[in-house]
Amino acid sequence: MKKLALVFAVAVILPSLVLAGVALRSLRNEQFRLERQRFLLYQDVCDRLARRAREFLTEQSQQFTWKTETLLLHEPPAVVAPDFSERLKTNYPEAALGFVVDLQGKLLNPTPTDDAEVKRFIAQDANFLRGLETAEVYLPESATSGQNGPLPKAGFPSSKKLETRKIAPQRSPGRSQTNPLPASKLTVSETGFRELVEASGEGLLARFVDNKLRVLFWYHSRRNPNLVFGAKLSLGGLKQRLATVLDDLEPALRGDVVVALLDDNAEPFAVRPSAYAANWRRPFVASEIGEELPRWEVALCLRDPAGPARGAQSLKWTLGLLIFVLVVTIGAGSWLIVTDMRRQLAAARQKTDFVSNVSHEFQTPLTSIKMFSELLAEGRIPESEKQQSYLHIIAAEASRLSRMLDQVLDFSRLERGEQKYTRRPCDLVSLARDSVEAYRPQLESGGFELRCHWPETAVEVLAEPDAIAQVLLNLLSNAEKYSKGAKEIELSLESDLNHEGWAEVQVKDRGPGVPRSSEERIFEKFYRADDSLSSGIPGSGLGLTLAREIARAHGGDVLYRSREGGGSCFVLRLPVFRHEPATP
Ligand code: ADP
Repeated sequence: MKKLALVFAVAVILPSLVLAGVALRSLRNEQFRLERQRFLLYQDVCDRLARRAREFLTEQSQQFTWKTETLLLHEPPAVVAPDFSERLKTNYPEAALGFVVDLQGKLLNPTPTDDAEVKRFIAQDANFLRGLETAEVYLPESATSGQNGPLPKAGFPSSKKLETRKIAPQRSPGRSQTNPLPASKLTVSETGFRELVEASGEGLLARFVDNKLRVLFWYHSRRNPNLVFGAKLSLGGLKQRLATVLDDLEPALRGDVVVALLDDNAEPFAVRPSAYAANWRRPFVASEIGEELPRWEVALCLRDPAGPARGAQSLKWTLGLLIFVLVVTIGAGSWLIVTDMRRQLAAARQKTDFVSNVSHEFQTPLTSIKMFSELLAEGRIPESEKQQSYLHIIAAEASRLSRMLDQVLDFSRLERGEQKYTRRPCDLVSLARDSVEAYRPQLESGGFELRCHWPETAVEVLAEPDAIAQVLLNLLSNAEKYSKGAKEIELSLESDLNHEGWAEVQVKDRGPGVPRSSEERIFEKFYRADDSLSSGIPGSGLGLTLAREIARAHGGDVLYRSREGGGSCFVLRLPVFRHEPATP
């Protein structure tokens, strides 16, 4: 049995536990995969919006070139140059101002005025544009392609600084543990304006002066190779127009995420869907727009940041619960199967014991009958007294055999549910007395002392007398078989007519009694307590089963009570029969 339990543990429980572990592990992996997919999807959204912003800047740069070329189409460059800034602003209002420098390093326009914008421009940008000083500039590849092709950034003396971004996206792949802000991917080059113009006929550059961003376009027209026309972009207007880029966000994603354009101070200036408050310094993902607008970013936050974690958690719980239920079910199922198999094995063993017991029991009377009848038939016993006694023995053994056969047949009828009793009112006192008296000679010849206590008055029960007599004989025969050395049997009949109306016939002996662990089991079919098996007392394990079944079919029961001072007390309990009061 232990082996069977072990086989179950190894073949069923262990694999299901391993499966449960594997399922949990693959769930975790699946979650990682889903999270990674979501991150990649949203990162892609940011990258795409950033690319749209870059394209927007490139279009602006091209528009500037085109507007300047239009101006130069009607009048020679030298005529346009002195008031280029004013003319440009009417044609191209996106420009904060226009400028013209010649290759000798002279600023032709704007000329110093009281205008604050012009003053600031001359103070902060003029020297760089005149080629008097170099500066750290951001040069986008796409927006610096002219007649000479893209600007070869590597050609400029690069002073690439390790810049950090202003925001820390939660899912930033390049973020180090020590520095919470990730590194920027943008390139800064220390260069002069003259080199830029020589390398490319038109372009865009961005630079910071006093921590304030400048975005400049330039155009070196072939109409006058000595002049370079340029514009400083109005950042206020740019922010307004750039916001339209966010309208490219897929409608399907608008319910889940919110996107924003952040300026170089990490301040959001455009949010879609608008009026959504979020921590823009810690977005879910973000992309730098690029060298066109250094330190500007497209950022994306989740509308319900706890949602995915919550979903994953609830999925984990559901699956965990499912696995738990599955493991418990498998465990319970295995246990039930093991218990059932154990019961079946025990039943099979009991049946085998039963067959060998019954055969043995049949063997004993048959041997006696055969032996004594042969002796008599061969005429080897001349004494008539002996002949009489042998004939008695043959008759007794034959009735024992028939009792045993009856028992087996009764049992099989009971098993098939065919046993029916014809009950009628009868006196239990006389029924019990007659049954016991019929058995008395057998007991007394075995040296038993039999004491009976019968009540004076009759106790009526509704029963089939033969069936009740069979129960009593069974109990008496058991008392005889299991008494060992203490040969005294006591019988009594008690009734409680007042309350529940029960009558009890008690059969008591002074044998070793029934072990406590077997008290209920002795009523199971084929069950025999270990003591009875080892002591070699013949039996089939059916007597008490039959007795109880008969008693229950009569509305009563057969019970076992251990007896004070040692021994057994078997009780046949039957309901007392009350006559219906005669109707007047
Ligand atoms: P059998 O006597 O043929 O084995 P029973 O169904 O009559 O079958 O009894 C079942 C078991 O109950 C017996 O094997 C025995 O172990 C126990 N038993 C029955 N009667 C007594 C008794 N009077 N004293 C002790 N044990 C008993």
